[in-house]
Amino acid sequence: MKRLRVILLFLLLGAIVNVAVAWGIASILTIEDTMSNDETIGMSVVEYETWNLSRYEAFGTQIFMSTRFKVHNEEEELLELTELWSEHPIENVKPSWGSMDVATELYRTLPGPPEHTMVQEIQMYEARGWPMHSLWCLRILLVHDGTGNNQNQASGFIAIPILFFEDLEPLVLPLYPIWTGFALNTIFYASLLWLIIPGPFVLRRFIRKRRGLCLKCGYDLRGVDHQACPECGEGIRKGNPA
Ligand SMILES: [Zn+2]
Repeated sequence: MKRLRVILLFLLLGAIVNVAVAWGIASILTIEDTMSNDETIGMSVVEYETWNLSRYEAFGTQIFMSTRFKVHNEEEELLELTELWSEHPIENVKPSWGSMDVATELYRTLPGPPEHTMVQEIQMYEARGWPMHSLWCLRILLVHDGTGNNQNQASGFIAIPILFFEDLEPLVLPLYPIWTGFALNTIFYASLLWLIIPGPFVLRRFIRKRRGLCLKCGYDLRGVDHQACPECGEGIRKGNPA
């Protein structure tokens, strides 16, 4: 039972480090950095009328972006990205981890622009985490020239705006887990902590046991016929090699 508790504790610590790393990357490496990064790879653009789909990658970061101009119409659902993704073989610009349901929900929270205005719509699926991507979020931005709000930005319930840098993007920390990546990262960091924190002690104990030394202080117990270590008083366990 004690061993199980220790394993669970390390997994919890691993999960915390995993989230901290993903959020650290999100706060250091902005969207703009990712897009202008020299390490940007695998960017591909699909032209679908005026619709651009792109993929950007940087350290611990993957961003899928959909940009288009459209005439806003209440009756016309803004979920055509799903259709586009399902109808066209564009796997390289489609996230394997994001959920379309989230986009639907997010659109419901957006105050809609006036009917029949020209809207620039940006959808951004963003994953963070290292060595695997473990958390993701979605941002939808509607830019229009109608009356009232010219810009509706939603990072919504899937991201935490902590700091606002003037009028720029809020710091967005992804919350949705990418389960495979989240599990593997958690195990990865838990193992790392396991090695770093108690590793040396476990190793020392193992070596002392093998050599027949006191587990606590390292006193040579071979040939000693006591119930306790004469050096430190630690009880001598049965099975200690004589
Ligand atoms: Zn001892």
